[in-house]
Amino acid sequence: MTVHEMYDLVIVGGGPGGMTAGIYAKRAALKTILIEKGFPGGQMAATDVVENWPGIENITGQELADNFLHHVKSYDLPILQEEVESVIPGINHHTVRLTNGDEYPCQSVIIAVGGSPKKLNIPGENEYYGKGVSYCAVCDGFFFRNKTVVVIGGGDSATEESLYLAKIAKKVYLVHRRDTLRAGMILQERVKADPKIEIIWNTVPIEIKADEQGVNEILFENTLNHEQSSIQADGIFIFIGFNPNNQLIPAGTPMNADGYVVTDCKGETTNPGIFVIGDLRQKYAKQIVVAAGEGATAALAAAHYIDSKQETL
Ligand code: NAP
Repeated sequence: MTVHEMYDLVIVGGGPGGMTAGIYAKRAALKTILIEKGFPGGQMAATDVVENWPGIENITGQELADNFLHHVKSYDLPILQEEVESVIPGINHHTVRLTNGDEYPCQSVIIAVGGSPKKLNIPGENEYYGKGVSYCAVCDGFFFRNKTVVVIGGGDSATEESLYLAKIAKKVYLVHRRDTLRAGMILQERVKADPKIEIIWNTVPIEIKADEQGVNEILFENTLNHEQSSIQADGIFIFIGFNPNNQLIPAGTPMNADGYVVTDCKGETTNPGIFVIGDLRQKYAKQIVVAAGEGATAALAAAHYIDSKQETL
């Protein structure tokens, strides 16, 4: 176990929020490190097309993530590929501890670790994960060329990913538990106009079946009359929202009933110098542009926090 030198700022998470915080922190001359357990980019990198990042009409999520990373690297921000175990608040400084036991003492922390896909919790979901059950169309869609897939959900993710899958698969069934989609209007219109997508309303999946080749049938129940039905399909893509990754949040930090962290307008939690940004923070809209804006705000606020602390010493 190594206790590393003191940092001004440790950023945990390399999505759009974390990377933007990195750019602003370096511009504010903060001694900063970004720690990300996977590849930088977060959910953005697993998105097919992004059409609402201002200034770029249309770009793949992976390309946009690459652009972010390129920009971050131009500031020489160190990026460590490790998993954080805990964030320990302190009076003089905070500590970010990794699962390998290493510790990073720091003046401030920005936690930007987003969320993880929600599960249906139905028979077959865990058993056939990777054998036809997926939570990422961009990652797994390739395996369903000219096949039949089912998409579950009615939000922006389910509709966006249905449109992506429709470019690859023979047929996409978009199955939603109500009779109106939650997704934004543009996406609603596009899925309704796509000849390969058939929307099945008021229906929920109740079981996923498979043979030795992988998923081959999904059983459903109608939410109004409780009648059961089934679709022969090669894959099921589940996009029913996200659970906040709040495991690193120090005990006692206020969260809402759904587990999203409540902060002030700077993203600062009740522990001074500890910020939470992006999809893990309670907010109205979960968008790349919002996460990026929150990253900028929190990094500027962290710089101000460190300055004010030094003035009072
Ligand atoms: P979401 O907006 O929370 O939508 C989840 C969908 O899954 C809802 O339609 C919900 O139905 C349905 N659902 C939830 N639990 C279910 C269950 N147990 N069984 C069946 N269906 C279930 O999640 P999301 O689409 O992943 O989006 C998350 C956030 O990211 C949103 O704020 C979204 O706007 C944002 N996002 C934005 C974009 C974009 O701007 N292009 C792209 C992707 C995501 P009900 O409608 O009945 O609740």
